[in-house]
Amino acid sequence: MTGVVVAGGGLAGLVAARHLAKSGLDVTVFERESSVGGRVRTTRENGYTFDRGFQVLFDSYPAVRRELDLDALSLRAFSPGATLARPGKRSVLSDPFRDPGALTETLFNREIRLADKLRILRLRRELANADPAAIIDGDRPSRTIESSLADRGFSRRFAERFVAPFYGGITLDRSLSTDARVFEYTFKMLGEGRATVPAEGMEAIPRQLAERARGAGVRIETDATVEAVEADAVTVDDETIGAEGVVVATDPKTAGELTGVDTPDGTRGCATVYTSLPSSTPLDTGKRLLLNVVDDRPNQVAQLSTVAPEYAPAGEQLLAATFLGVPETDDEALFEETRDTLSSWYPERTVADLEHLRTERVPFAQFDQPPGFRAGLPDPDAPDGQVVLAGDYTRWCSIQGALESGRVAARTLQDRMGV
Ligand SMILES: Cc1cc2nc3c(=O)[nH]c(=O)nc-3n(C[C@H](O)[C@H](O)[C@H](O)COP(=O)(O)OP(=O)(O)OC[C@H]3O[C@@H](n4cnc5c(N)ncnc54)[C@H](O)[C@@H]3O)c2cc1C
Repeated sequence: MTGVVVAGGGLAGLVAARHLAKSGLDVTVFERESSVGGRVRTTRENGYTFDRGFQVLFDSYPAVRRELDLDALSLRAFSPGATLARPGKRSVLSDPFRDPGALTETLFNREIRLADKLRILRLRRELANADPAAIIDGDRPSRTIESSLADRGFSRRFAERFVAPFYGGITLDRSLSTDARVFEYTFKMLGEGRATVPAEGMEAIPRQLAERARGAGVRIETDATVEAVEADAVTVDDETIGAEGVVVATDPKTAGELTGVDTPDGTRGCATVYTSLPSSTPLDTGKRLLLNVVDDRPNQVAQLSTVAPEYAPAGEQLLAATFLGVPETDDEALFEETRDTLSSWYPERTVADLEHLRTERVPFAQFDQPPGFRAGLPDPDAPDGQVVLAGDYTRWCSIQGALESGRVAARTLQDRMGV
């Protein structure tokens, strides 16, 4: 066989494959698992939809708008902002521009001081005018989220009570030691769009990408592991196959092993505890995320079926409680912590009916993104010959990073092949 081989059928590989096929190349994707999607996967069981770890799609990400048919995904959106929860107390902090109904609650929220609420509006205005690519790629000095907040005059209280749980949930790093570019980019995107999940679960995203790739002529082979990559051939499950070009779109560790290129090696994981509660016990926080302002046990709880009713059978609510890192605690103990935390947030009602459904432990969700991390990431054209890299690890850890990397990798390979 000749043609182009894409190793890995995650978001990046699927996008790269489609763009290459659209330029007239003969493209085959080899995916190690039994289905495509990589880190974006969903399991359905007994009428519930369990994403592989709580995750959302920001519909304002430029690459999301470019690569996906969002209407076909039937997106279900969270309300802007969040409910800040601590024992005996819950309060709303929202975006008055996008959620005017929550203006009074937001103004009178006593967790966060007025001066910080005004600073949020100033930051919103500052970032509204910024070019997204310049936020992530620009040559401003790098700093942590924590120091970028301090430099902008935000109080420690604001950092601890809102940013730590909210962006800790996005970066899986509640210490706010991640590069501030990630915070600024996602803050801008949330000001301009919504956090959503597809009605059929997050896996609907790679499913759509795979359909589009097949539509462009791509062949996708699952249960097929790429074991070695040469300039003109790949070895797949002990068989050597000729290739005019190769896109290595695996996870960063495997990409490093296959190409010899340095890839980021730090890992951030999480565990999501899925529970159900009868619909007769509403949590009254609507479609807002519940943030733990006190600690990370759990860091946040999402009422998924309030946002996407399709995620739970009739009469039941599906809640997703996320713990950062990969806790050593067993599933039962994590569930008990979730129940205890929820009952401390809701002393006026019982959560005795809370039932443990499933725990998703994801040891590798993201790589470390400390200040300046972008300078250490490999370029798509780092390998020699007709071999290029795709994957979030060539840009930054997100659906945006993965989708964008696929397009860039395809263009890079086309240039190398003179197509
Ligand atoms: C729990 C969790 C929550 C997240 N939350 C969000 C969120 O809310 N918003 C957001 O934007 N991003 C989120 N992310 C990050 C986002 O999902 C990833 O950045 C993105 O999916 C990475 O895609 P990728 O294609 O670069 O890599 P991957 O998804 O890792 O895909 C790599 C693919 O290569 C395959 N592969 C590996 N080795 C081989 C081999 N030798 N041969 C063949 N195939 C191979 C793998 O099986 C996999 O399918 C989250 C991730 C996780 C896990």
